[in-house]
Amino acid sequence: TKVLLTGGSGFIAAHILEQLLEKGHSVVTTVRSEEKAQAIRDAYKAQSDRLEVLIVPDIAKLDAFDEVVKTPGIEVVLHTASPFHFKWSDPQKELLDPAINGTTGILNALKKSAPQVRRVVVTSSFAAIIDESHLSDPNHTFSEESWNPDTAADIHRSPATAYRVSKKLAEKAAWDFVETEKPNFDLVTVNPPLVVGPVINHLASLDSINTSNERAVNLLQGKWRESIPSQGPVALWIDVRDLARAHVVAGLEKPKVGGHRLFTTAGLFGNHDYVDIVREKFPEFADRLPPPEVKGGERPLPEQTFKWNVENTDKLLGIEWISFEKSVVDLVSSLKKYGI
Ligand code: NDP
Repeated sequence: TKVLLTGGSGFIAAHILEQLLEKGHSVVTTVRSEEKAQAIRDAYKAQSDRLEVLIVPDIAKLDAFDEVVKTPGIEVVLHTASPFHFKWSDPQKELLDPAINGTTGILNALKKSAPQVRRVVVTSSFAAIIDESHLSDPNHTFSEESWNPDTAADIHRSPATAYRVSKKLAEKAAWDFVETEKPNFDLVTVNPPLVVGPVINHLASLDSINTSNERAVNLLQGKWRESIPSQGPVALWIDVRDLARAHVVAGLEKPKVGGHRLFTTAGLFGNHDYVDIVREKFPEFADRLPPPEVKGGERPLPEQTFKWNVENTDKLLGIEWISFEKSVVDLVSSLKKYGI
């Protein structure tokens, strides 16, 4: 099957690309620069007959994908590209516009020029599910049915809120598109919480580590020696390989997941867990770690946090989730080649 994967240079997309090629599929992937394209081509020389890397510099432009979708033979689209960082000054222009226009832009282009596409999977987020007013409420349950109530009017509350709103509005726009435009494809969204695990995308340096793995880099660079920051109340996580697998299953292997939101979640974590795992498994980093008596980053207690129900997702996907320990061990090992 030929798959269009947007944002191929990203942390999560790199694992999706790896799994797609491994399974013998053909992939057209988009990145923002020739340099990033070349890094991917170099990594997959042996599969060059099944891999095309195209340049889409900015998904905020509504016509960004108009030419890409005309690549012959695409049957499935996995749209992962969306800004997940806090290096912006204008949240509307740098966060909401690319998230929302990137999503509606590709869906419009597909409807117009790629009627053979049968399924689109959009990488949404737990950010589109949560309600910030219930994060510490043990009587509140989030599920595949839940929607973040915040709107564009809330983006100045905090940088985290702005990011969450970008994901909520982008996902909402996708479901609205399918309902009103009735395209030939159906839609699946994948809504992961914090994504952890090995880095296999090309990084120019550790400074370009993706946002969800920044905390591990900070820990290994000794920045948590004095105190361990709290991970906050949004303390669910998933391994990146499991999440990539969920995209592949949703896009190519299970027709019946069409029309569903997949809330892919392995459980609760605390920042303190990273410290304990590194202490036990990587003695070479001992001098970078906080001494054992340093507190902070404890996993939230069940009575202090929201509940979640992912039964439907687990039933639909049937994936056995990787453990937090394995995820962190493999992440740390993957960072060693950057001389951490
Ligand atoms: P990355 O930052 O590694 O990947 C984001 C990708 O989107 C990159 O390839 C990036 O390109 C591309 N991108 C961002 N803005 C633009 C733009 N304006 N124009 C074109 N491309 C753009 O992060 P992740 O892999 O973690 O994120 C992938 C997806 O997963 C995102 O949709 C994110 O919201 C979602 N997600 C991530 C979670 C996590 O914990 N990691 C949790 C929940 C959802 P470049 O690097 O060149 O800027």
